[in-house]
This record gives sequence, structure tokens and C-alpha cells, in this order.
Amino acid sequence: MEQPYTIILAPNPSLMTGPGTNTILLGNQASSAIVIDPAIDDAAYLEAILQEGERRGGIGRILITHGHHDHMDGAAALRGRTGAPIYAFSRQGVPIADEEIADGTTFPAGNDTLRAIHTPGHRFDHHCYLLEQQHTLFAGDIVAGAGTVVIIPPEGDMQEYLDTLKRLQTIDIAEIVPAHGPIITEPRAKLEEYIAHRMEREPTAWSASSRSYRPWRCCLLAQPFARWCSASTPM
Ligand SMILES: [Zn+2]
Repeated sequence: MEQPYTIILAPNPSLMTGPGTNTILLGNQASSAIVIDPAIDDAAYLEAILQEGERRGGIGRILITHGHHDHMDGAAALRGRTGAPIYAFSRQGVPIADEEIADGTTFPAGNDTLRAIHTPGHRFDHHCYLLEQQHTLFAGDIVAGAGTVVIIPPEGDMQEYLDTLKRLQTIDIAEIVPAHGPIITEPRAKLEEYIAHRMEREPTAWSASSRSYRPWRCCLLAQPFARWCSASTPM
């Protein structure tokens, strides 16, 4: 049986991105191919995406999880090569987007359906994408496969981030494919761990229900960077 999705690791490893960005391809001849988060304008990497896209019926859509560079910097080049439109939550977040997509927007992905789930917190414009029958969540930067997501002002929002984690707990998810690091096969435990970690580490932010208590900015990711980041984050 055809693999429901393929991961192509972008050649952009760093303290911020861990091993690099996981770029996702899914779909088949019936639906055409979807690419999530083409991360970098690199010839060999884009060629690998194009080849896998060809195998899956040709690239018909490019989806962005959020407007951080390591999630969209290959998108314009890929659109140039394929003519495929770029979709994102907002042009405010992703200026190169051709179409803005709201929470709940669906796309055919092979015999399955891919659904956008608006998940602010790491960044205001963040979408995760759920492959519905497979129960696979492409989580962008909401959850990391290794290390942690840390919160630093002023772009992200701690309250929104916690709300997002709690919303994800209500969805039937069998596995999480993060944008950075390995696949998470125990999503429930991981989401619980993230929420517990946040409530323990950021008690002030958690107890402050007022929306005026903000802003926090999230960044990712690698453990050494996370430690540095949390040490330097003013409380
Ligand atoms: Zn990010």
C-alpha cells in the first residue's frame, strides 16, 4: 500500500531547527500532491520534493504551517517550478501566500482528507494539518520531536499556546509528525507532558487569565538552545 505521506528533511540544521525542517508530501494521482512547509531554497532539496511530488501526481498545493523562515523559504521557488498556489492562515503571517485558509479548511489528500486546524500560540498564524482517516497530525512548531518549545516575548502567546495544546487533546490523534525531530508515537503522553511542563514552568503566565498578560514569543527547539532561551527569558 502507498505510504500516506513522505518526509523530506530540509538541509537547514541549526540550534533553532534541530536536525532541520521536516517537509511533508502527501496525496496521489487522484488528488495531486500537497507539500507542507518547503523550508529552504536549495536546489537538491527542491529537486527531491519535485520528484516525490511527481510520483504523487504532481504538486498541486503548497501549505505553510506558519510564517517563520524555516517553514516557507522554499515556497516561492517551488511555486515557480510547479505553478502550485501557496496556502496559509493569513498573508499578514505569510506574505507570499496566494490564499488564506481558515480553521477547518479541508483538502483532498489521496483517499484521505487533510484538515487545517488553527493552533495559535507559537505564532499567531499557526496551522496544524490533520490527515483525518490516518489520524496523523502534522504539527509544525506546536510540538517538537526532541527538545522542547520555549516561549519568549513578544510574538507568541502563552495562554493561546496552552489553549492550543488542550484543543489538540480533544482530537483523536494516533501520531504527531513535528516540523523538527522524530515522529511522536504517543501523542497523548506528549501533549500531557507539554501542558504539565508549561504549568510548572510558567505558573505566573498560567494563573494570569487576563489577556493583558502577554505577550510571549515561542521559539524552538533544540535542548541546548531551549535551556539558553529559558535562562535568558525575563519573567
Ligand atoms: Zn516557528
